[in-house]
Amino acid sequence: MEQITATGGCAHPVHLSGSTTTLDAVTGEILRHYDTRTEPGERLLVRCRNRRASVCAPCSRLHAGDTYHLVRAGLLGGKNIPTTIRNRPRLFITLTAPSFGPVHRAGAGPCRPRRAGGTCAHGRPVGCGVVHAPDALLVGQPLCAGCYDYTAHVLWHAHAGILWDRFTRDVRRHLASSAGLVQSHFSQHARLSFARVAEYQKRAAVHVHAVVRLDGPAGPDDQPPLWGTTDQLTDAVRASAQRVLVRTPYGPAIGELALRWGTQLDARPLHADADGADDDAVAAYVAKYVTKGASETGAGTDYRLTSWQDIDAAHVSDHVRTLMRTAWLLGGLPEYEPLRLRTWAHTLGYRGHILTKSRAYSTTYAALRAERAHHLGHITIPDTTTDASWRYVGSGHTPGAALIAAGIADDLAESRRLGVEMRQEGEWGR
Ligand SMILES: [Zn+2]
Ligand SMILES: [Zn+2]
Ligand SMILES: [Zn+2]
Repeated sequence: MEQITATGGCAHPVHLSGSTTTLDAVTGEILRHYDTRTEPGERLLVRCRNRRASVCAPCSRLHAGDTYHLVRAGLLGGKNIPTTIRNRPRLFITLTAPSFGPVHRAGAGPCRPRRAGGTCAHGRPVGCGVVHAPDALLVGQPLCAGCYDYTAHVLWHAHAGILWDRFTRDVRRHLASSAGLVQSHFSQHARLSFARVAEYQKRAAVHVHAVVRLDGPAGPDDQPPLWGTTDQLTDAVRASAQRVLVRTPYGPAIGELALRWGTQLDARPLHADADGADDDAVAAYVAKYVTKGASETGAGTDYRLTSWQDIDAAHVSDHVRTLMRTAWLLGGLPEYEPLRLRTWAHTLGYRGHILTKSRAYSTTYAALRAERAHHLGHITIPDTTTDASWRYVGSGHTPGAALIAAGIADDLAESRRLGVEMRQEGEWGR
C-alpha cells in the first residue's frame, strides 16, 4: 500500500530489485542503506511514467503537469527562467499539413456544397450537402478514398520534423536579412527559442502548435536587439511557413514530392498582461495534448504494428487503416528505408516526439523531476558517494493491487480537484 501510494497509484509500475547505499565520502561510514530484500514484497515499485492517459492516468497527469510548467516557464518565467521573458516578442503559432484531398467537415453549413453536382473519376460525388456534427464519424474522412493522396499524407508525416527544422532555420534567416545582418551572424545578435506540440486533426494529419520567443544571443537572460520586435517575428514566421519545403528521396515508384506546410497558418502575438492569464491558457492548452496518444484521437494505435494482419485488426477508421497500409507499403521501398515507415505505421508515418523544445526555451523534464524528488525529501547529501545496484524484475499489478492503485489514483485526482477549487474560491473571494 505504501509503495503504491508512493507511485501515485501508477497503473503499470516497474518492479525493481536491488539496493542503494549512501556512504560518507571521507570516512566511508554508511549513512543510509535501502535494500528491497528487507522490504515487504522484496521489490521497489517505480512509476511507469507513461504520458498517455489511456495507458496510465496518474502518470499522464504528472507528465501533463510537468509539460504545463515547462511551457509556462518559457512564457512567464520561473524555474530558473527570469520573469523578464514575458516582455520579449512571443508568438503562439499553428502550422497545418497541406490538403491531401477533400474530406468531410463539420460546421454550421453544408459540408462541401456543389450546386453543379458532378462525380470524380471513381464515380463518387465531388460535393457533400450534409451538415455534419463535430463528432460525426464521417468528419475527417475523404469524400473519395481513390482521389485522396495517401502517399503524400504519409510522406508529409515522415518529413514533418525536417520541415519544422527548416522552418525555424528560415525564420532566423529571414530575421537576419531584414535586420541587414549576414545570416551566419544571427546567433551573435539574437536567439530563437520554441516549444512545439504535435496534434492529430480529424483527417489524421498532424498539425503543430508552438510557442516561439525571441531573446538576445545568451537566451532567456538576454534582451533581444532593437530590431527584434513582435512584428518582425510575425513577418518572419509567415514568410517562412509559406517558403520552406522538403523534397522526398527520389524513387521510380513515386518520383519526388515537394512537401510544404498547409496554407492555414495562425500566428498570434502573446502580449504581456499583468496576470499572465493568456500565457497560462496557452501552457494549459499545450499540456493537454501531450497526454493524448494516437489512439485517443482515433489516428493510429498506441502500440507498434508488426504485420499486415495487425493493421487489419486495429480498431481504426477505414481512412486511418489506409494510411497505415500506405505507410507499410512505402516502408518496403528501398528509397524510403531511412524513414522507417513500418516502425511508425501505427502513428501514420509521423515519428517526432509529441513535445519538442529548443535547448534555451525553459527548464527540462529532468530538472522538474529532480525538483519534485527534492520536494518529497529525496535530497542528495553533499560529500557522499552512492552505491546502487538495481535490476528489473517485472511490471504491472496483481488484480488486487490494481484495485488499490486505482483507488489511490482516484483519491489523489479528487484532492487535486478540490485543491484547485479551493484556490479558485480564494481568488474569487479577494
Ligand atoms: Zn504509471
Ligand atoms: Zn460531408
Ligand atoms: Zn475519386
